[in-house]
Parts: sequence; C-alpha cells; structure tokens
Amino acid sequence: MQTPKKIAVVGSGLVGTLLSIYLKRRGHEVHVFDRSPDIRKIQFSGRSINLVMSNRGWKALEFLGLQNEVKKIGIPVDKRAIHTGTNEVTYQHYGKDGEYIYSLSRGNLNRKMVDLAEAEGVQFHFEQKIWDVTLATATLHEGETERGAWEELNFDLVFGADGAFSRVRHRMQRQSMFNYSQDFLQVGYKELHIPANADGSHKLDQHSLHIWPRGNFMLMALANPDGTFTCTLFMPHEGENSFASLQDKETLVAFFANHFPDTKEVIPDLVEDFFKNPTSFLVTMKCYPWTYEDKVALIGDACHAIVPFYGHGMNAGFEDITILNQCIDAFGDDWKAIFKAYQESRKPNADAIAELSYRNFMEMSAKTADPKFLLQKKIEKWFSEKHPQLWVPLYSRVTFSTQPYAEALAIGDKQNAIMEQVMLQENIENNWNSSETEKLILQLLQSN
Ligand SMILES: Cc1cc2nc3c(=O)[nH]c(=O)nc-3n(C[C@H](O)[C@H](O)[C@H](O)COP(=O)(O)OP(=O)(O)OC[C@H]3O[C@@H](n4cnc5c(N)ncnc54)[C@H](O)[C@@H]3O)c2cc1C
Repeated sequence: MQTPKKIAVVGSGLVGTLLSIYLKRRGHEVHVFDRSPDIRKIQFSGRSINLVMSNRGWKALEFLGLQNEVKKIGIPVDKRAIHTGTNEVTYQHYGKDGEYIYSLSRGNLNRKMVDLAEAEGVQFHFEQKIWDVTLATATLHEGETERGAWEELNFDLVFGADGAFSRVRHRMQRQSMFNYSQDFLQVGYKELHIPANADGSHKLDQHSLHIWPRGNFMLMALANPDGTFTCTLFMPHEGENSFASLQDKETLVAFFANHFPDTKEVIPDLVEDFFKNPTSFLVTMKCYPWTYEDKVALIGDACHAIVPFYGHGMNAGFEDITILNQCIDAFGDDWKAIFKAYQESRKPNADAIAELSYRNFMEMSAKTADPKFLLQKKIEKWFSEKHPQLWVPLYSRVTFSTQPYAEALAIGDKQNAIMEQVMLQENIENNWNSSETEKLILQLLQSN
C-alpha cells in the first residue's frame, strides 16, 4: 500500500477512468474532472466510434478483474472481411483459432468505465473545465470560461488524461526542453451507419471487421450488439475521391454506386448520414517528457495521439497504466522515480505504435486487395504454423501479445525484408508452400 495521496485525474475518457480505478485500489483519494457532462446522462444516438480492444487492453482490465464486465458489451472479431467490389468477400483471419479482438462502442465502453470507477469510490466532477495547472504544486485551475474567474484546486498529484488537445500538456509545453510535434493526416473520416434487420440480426457477418479497400480511401464497418454496424469512411480531405469532391447528393450516390456497390442495400441513410455527420481530422501527436517532477504526469492520448489504423490508441493508453502500475510496485512512495521509469519505458513504445499505425493505413486501404500482398500473408501464416517458435507475424505480435511495441516493430521490419526476398522467387505463386520456400526462409532467418 502506498501512502495515500489526494490525486486529480483530468479527463474521464477511457484512460482517465481506468487509471482512476487503479489509483483508488492503491488507497488514494481520487477525483476525476471532465469539462463535458456525465456521458451516462447524455442522449446517445449509438452512432459513435467503434473501437477494437486487444490483448494489451484486456491485460489492463484483467489485472483488476474487470474484463468480463467489458466483454458483455463487446463482440468478438476474428477476421477481416474484404469487400473487393465484385460482390465477392474474402476473409483473412487475424490470428490462430481462438484469437479475437473485440468490437466495442467507445460511448458504451466509456459509460461502463465511469460506472465501474464510481462503484470503486472514485469521485467524478463533470462539467468542470480545467484551463491550467501549476506544475510545481499540482494545482488545477478550473472555471466556466477561459477568461472568467478560476478556482484553484489543490492536489498532491495530477494526471493529465485529457486527450490529444490536453490542457495539462499545454502547460508543460511552456517548459524549456519540452519537445512536441503534431502532424495532421491528409485523410479524414466520417461515421456512417448500417441498421439491423427487422428481426434485430446483423446484415453482415458480425464477427468480421469489414473493409472496402479502394487505394487511397476505404470504408470500414464494425458490429454493435444491437444488430447495427458503425461504419467509418476514411478519405482524403481534398483532391480526387475526397470529402471535398462529394458536395451534393447526386455525386455522393454515384460515388458509392461506383466504388461500394454492395453497400446500397445495407446503408439506407447514406445521404442523410453523410451530410449530417461531421468530417473529422486525424492527428499524430508526440511529446516528451511526459512528467514533471513528482507532481504531474500525462497518460493516454494526452501524450501520444496516433492515427487509428492499427486499432491501438486506447490499447496503448491502457498499457501505459499497466506499466505505471508496475513502476509503482517497483518504487513505492517515490513518485519521482515512478514517473521517470514510466516515461522512459513508454516513450519508445508509443513512438513505435505511432509508426505502425501510420503504415497500416496503406496496408488496409490498398494492400488488402493486392493479390501479391495476400500471397505474402498466406506464406507467412503457413510458415508460422509450421515454425511457431521462429515466426510470429507482426499483426499477432502487436495485437495478440504484449511484447513491447518497439520490439514488435523491429522484428516486423526484419521479417518484411525476408519476405521481400521470398516473393522474388520464380514461380512463387505455385511454390509458395514448397520445401524450397521453407528452406529459403529458414536460411534467411539464420543470416539475419
Ligand atoms: C476513428 C477512430 C477509431 C479508433 N479506433 C480505435 C481502436 O479500434 N482501438 C483503440 O485502441 N483505439 C482506437 N482509437 C483511439 C481511441 O479512441 C483513443 O486512443 C482513446 O479514446 C483515448 O482515450 P483518452 O482517455 O486518452 O482520451 P479521450 O478519450 O480523448 O478523453 C479525454 C477526456 O478529457 C476530457 N477533457 C479534455 N480537455 C479537458 C479539460 N480542459 N478539462 C476537463 N476535461 C477535459 C474530455 O472531455 C474527454 O472526456 C480510435 C480513434 C478514432 C478517432
């Protein structure tokens, strides 16, 4: 047990709420502040972002024994369903039999996390906007408006779990030796919706992540327990095949008929959804350091916002908490040592998942429909089934293991170099599972 402290967590998102439970279980007095109303009381259309939770996320929940509560609101997903545009759907399993990721509605998960934290005794303060923090004293400055009167709220420690545009980080950015970068992707996204059948069943296979890959744009769909699917259209903001090019109903309908013909039956409210829902931006944000003395620490998107193409933003944020918790075990009451070890352990891994996520856009939007890429994946799967000790595919390392992201990235790069040589072999289309191919991979593994 640590010496109890009075701790503020700014942000009641997924990471802030989970962190608050860990801290409460350590015996601290925990206050969570959020500028928004209580998410459980908001009229919620059900049309929100869907997330996939994988091993890293589950590990953080399992430590607290909360995984079953969360699984109840999720749907297991074991494969990609690729809609090629010819009414044909091909399936690619993500891992071995029994390996699943889970589709969860971000809104529902957040509601559940607030419920769970409140049941532990965490104190929530909704509609309280934090504008600034005095780092040296862990004092929050709260007020209705940025230019109005602010109240000072004193704590022993402050965690900034206030997302990609964190105010806590803004204050840290004004310190010297604080590094910061922000990159907006040229690609944005928009939510669309597939309703349930009249009997409440799903219109598409619920255990697949559906992708309509079309080069520099793609459509994705993940199932909800109520029979609906949340779709996300990823597309450049400007140029040909972009959000800017779809300004009226006729162009939109023709565009979907041309590129996503098999969605006509399943997205009946396309026009209404498309013009009603906002087009959102995607950003990668990196910064360092993540902590200030023994007083303030950033966590989750507040210190590493990434693009969503590996499905790991929340998973990485939950893993931050696992590592922070291990650092608490190691250093007890020495919060300065805890924060130092936490940020040093996490920073290279946060950078690695940022890189992997960025690269995965091309894999999902272009390569999943490329026969050469599909063959390469087939060879990797075949070889890894024959030699599970020698070859774990990159996706499995990232998603079905808790190997540090930086290690997974480095090994993945080596594996890719090997596969590039394998793919150059003559007649590889027919010899892909031959003993020569096996020998070649074994040789290349030895020499790498
Ligand atoms: C389209 C899309 C798909 C995604 N898919 C996945 C996926 O499949 N898997 C995955 O793991 N991740 C995914 N992510 C990423 C995931 O949503 C985020 O990583 C995660 O929600 C971050 O949680 P957080 O708690 O750190 O921050 P947030 O969820 O951003 O929470 C921050 C909270 O802080 C509050 N706040 C902000 N500023 C203040 C302030 N000044 N005062 C008080 N409160 C404040 C906000 O109201 C909010 O409640 C996806 C993201 C997007 C955009």
